[in-house]
Amino acid sequence: MRSISILGATGSVGASTLELIRRNRDEWRVEALTANCNAAELAARAREFGARVAVVADERCLPELRDALAGTGIAAAGGPAALCESASRGADVTVAAIVGCAGLGPTMAAIERGGVVALANKEALVSAGAVMTAAVARHGATLLPVDSEHNAIFQCLHGEDLADVRWITLTASGGPFRTWTAEQLAAATPAQAVAHPNWDMGAKISVDSATMMNKGLEVIEAHHLFPVGLERIRIIVHPQSVIHSLVEYRDGSTLAQLGPSDMRVPIASCLAWPRRMATALQPLDLAAIGTLSFFAPDEEHFPATRLARGAAQAGGAAPAVLNAANEVAVAAFLAGQIAFTDICALVAETLSGTLPGAPQTLDDVLAVDAEARARAAEMLEHV
Ligand code: NAD
Ligand code: MG
Repeated sequence: MRSISILGATGSVGASTLELIRRNRDEWRVEALTANCNAAELAARAREFGARVAVVADERCLPELRDALAGTGIAAAGGPAALCESASRGADVTVAAIVGCAGLGPTMAAIERGGVVALANKEALVSAGAVMTAAVARHGATLLPVDSEHNAIFQCLHGEDLADVRWITLTASGGPFRTWTAEQLAAATPAQAVAHPNWDMGAKISVDSATMMNKGLEVIEAHHLFPVGLERIRIIVHPQSVIHSLVEYRDGSTLAQLGPSDMRVPIASCLAWPRRMATALQPLDLAAIGTLSFFAPDEEHFPATRLARGAAQAGGAAPAVLNAANEVAVAAFLAGQIAFTDICALVAETLSGTLPGAPQTLDDVLAVDAEARARAAEMLEHV
């Protein structure tokens, strides 16, 4: 029996993870489950899986969580310190599935405990970059990528030497607006942006997929996970989302990982690693899919990937600033405050200011994040 903690248990990745655990109940013991504020849902999951502790990040939601767990023996806690404490309880596997840089502190706490961390929370790695990868090495932690593209690359690199890699190619669905004109993009609504053609995901990453910032963040994520050099990491648009990414070697061989567009596949790969576990998913039916197509990314309509690559090249604080500005812009778009095309404009403008020095510690990263958020929020006033 192995133990598992899920940070962000009430979200889309959290629910997919719990679905896998549900099918393999006698193999897993659930240590900690966390959420931002959805106490009712968190308590229901904690009861169902007999978690030892349930934590809400927002302390105002703790009384509701306590009430919902009264008499169960499950400990309830709330607030940022409790969240980090729950992440460092030492489960065999910790799934980092909080959305945004808010997940950075708890993810680092899990890494410092030195176990297996299955990372979905790409914003944390984008913001902290070298600070996180150094902590992984220092504490002997194992970072397994949940993000479907990175999980695919991880599988394609198994047993290989990074020095033999010619290209890492991240596939991108192109999102719901792949074929839209500039005029259509300017008028895109939040409801249209979150309706992803292939994947069922949380609102923030769905908007990121629509702007292609998701792929930009993923280039930076890949750069840290698989250090082959930024110039060897490229993007191909593949609307069917059947090939999840590819690695080309210097002998001309290209390895790819294929599968249904369902996050349970990469999550299962992390949970069972280095072995495999059964899932209840339909097998891939290539005859029914029929055609796979590929297109070069359109950086005129979707400038996010260029912005992200520029931030990765600049290094230092730039990726954290890019991520923070994007989080502020996406929240403003979802709240109806700015247009879809303002998202990347706001990110570009935030990045164009003077950037702070390269962060060396977790606190440095959090300070860069907070400052960039404040700057982006101020710019929002003038949009
Ligand atoms: P989601 O919005 O569905 O869920 C987010 C979870 O984080 C929830 O449990 C929520 O309660 C918690 N949370 C939100 N704000 C918080 C805060 N301030 N403090 C603490 N907890 C907070 O998001 P998701 O789609 O599951 O995505 C989670 C992460 O995984 C993101 O980083 C996303 O980019 C990444 N990811 C998601 C998918 C997917 O298919 N959904 C695929 C690849 C990567
Ligand atoms: Mg992805």
